[in-house]
Amino acid sequence: MVSESRLEELNFVLIPLLAASHIIPMVDMAKLLAQRGVTVTLVMTPLNAIRFTAVIDCAIGSGLLIRVLELQFPAKEAGLPEGCESADCLPALAFRRNFFAAIDMLQDQAEKLLQEMKTKPSCIICDTHIAWTAETADKFQIPRIIFDGMSCFTQLCMHNLYIMKDQNEIPESGPFVIPDLPDRIEVTKAQLPGAFNPGTLCIQDIRDKIRAAENRAYGVVINTFEDLEQRYVDKFRKLKDCRVWCIGPLSLCNNENQDKAQRGNKASFDKEEYLKKWLDFWQPESVVYACFGSLGRITVVQFVELALGLEASGCPFVLVIKAGEGQAPIEDWISKNGFEKRTTERGLLIRGWAPQVLILSHPTIGAFLTHCGWNSTLEGISAGVPMITWPLFSEQFLNERFLVHVLRMGARVGSQGVMHLGEEKKSQVQVNREEVTKAITEVMDKEDEGKERRKRAKELGQRAKKAAENDGSSHLSLTLLIKEIQEFQLNES
Ligand code: UDP
Repeated sequence: MVSESRLEELNFVLIPLLAASHIIPMVDMAKLLAQRGVTVTLVMTPLNAIRFTAVIDCAIGSGLLIRVLELQFPAKEAGLPEGCESADCLPALAFRRNFFAAIDMLQDQAEKLLQEMKTKPSCIICDTHIAWTAETADKFQIPRIIFDGMSCFTQLCMHNLYIMKDQNEIPESGPFVIPDLPDRIEVTKAQLPGAFNPGTLCIQDIRDKIRAAENRAYGVVINTFEDLEQRYVDKFRKLKDCRVWCIGPLSLCNNENQDKAQRGNKASFDKEEYLKKWLDFWQPESVVYACFGSLGRITVVQFVELALGLEASGCPFVLVIKAGEGQAPIEDWISKNGFEKRTTERGLLIRGWAPQVLILSHPTIGAFLTHCGWNSTLEGISAGVPMITWPLFSEQFLNERFLVHVLRMGARVGSQGVMHLGEEKKSQVQVNREEVTKAITEVMDKEDEGKERRKRAKELGQRAKKAAENDGSSHLSLTLLIKEIQEFQLNES
């Protein structure tokens, strides 16, 4: 057991990448760690911290030892517009390089503040994209544990794909099987993340730096649970000399409705009561919830197919439309086409930030149409809801394979290839409305395959909750991580 008396002397420093979907799980992780009695220091910048104030203040108010260290973000110095502190608000793809330059500039500030802390840092848990933390951990002589928001399945796919890439074995076109995995996973190059299938912006040098730092890490924390992907966890653990801690689903630390509603950002939809009543009105497991994550880069041509496919399915639905550059043409189509008016009886459009975890936990939600970001994927699994998969970019096609072929709790709409961030305008229609309706009908089907899929989803949802409970595998894994850091600190002192 971890000795209670010294726990608060352990200071876990959490450094997320400045992007909503990277900060959200780290804030959950901060709460989970602090609930065990350790001190947690979350490193952020002012505008990012504001988004999480309500959640963090609430956690601190309940007695948790969480503090926020604010770093001034050098937007201007890195050639970014003032106030642009987060990867999800970059005005264009070309600014990604500037964004990483700004992240690099944070190192001195962060180290100075950490040096001044009364409780000496015990370890750093950082997003894998923040490469300088490797030097910081060396300077402070503490372990650096990385977190990159992917499953063990995807980590292994990536590992094997890197080997293929180094040997020039990834075919330019056509499907191929990712080697050395417990299941047969077939992909095409066009479906792979940027490291293997680059878009027009070349950031290979940045990727190489991140990868080199990754290889120096002490260990890895993963937002997953053993029972979800045991064979992949075991294999990945072997690869990483056992220093892998599966501590998810992190989203399950939000037990109260208020925590679920405020997670990630203030919901644009603040009529929580109205949302609840709207959802309550429908039959159990009858509503389709459709959301494409925090970045929401679906093009207007694809939005049209999605909207009309949803309409033709006849199901009640909640559809999230993200603010940003793409919203105006979408709104234009909605009003000209009359979509919102026509579907007003059974469709709810949420513009901006939706309280996703709250919505998914409602019993009338029957399916989740998702872009397969890992957070959303695991949130859907935790809610026990079958999924309609529409991957867009990054490692989302791999997550789709996991949902559809390994867990068998999802049905594909049939998107063919990655739509690189910032290059959406070039994309044609990949998925048409008939395909959307077909996938929804398949998942909502109450017989045969649909029934089996739903049953599996429910079982996995139960297993997820079990893993996160006291004495569950993720709970135990977090205990072991804290113990490891405690022992490391004792040996050093
Ligand atoms: N999210 C949310 N409301 C929204 C959009 C997204 O709460 O309207 C949350 C969602 O619950 C998840 C995260 O934002 O935790 C999105 O992360 P994911 O990895 O799924 O996708 P990304 O945004 O990185 O593409």
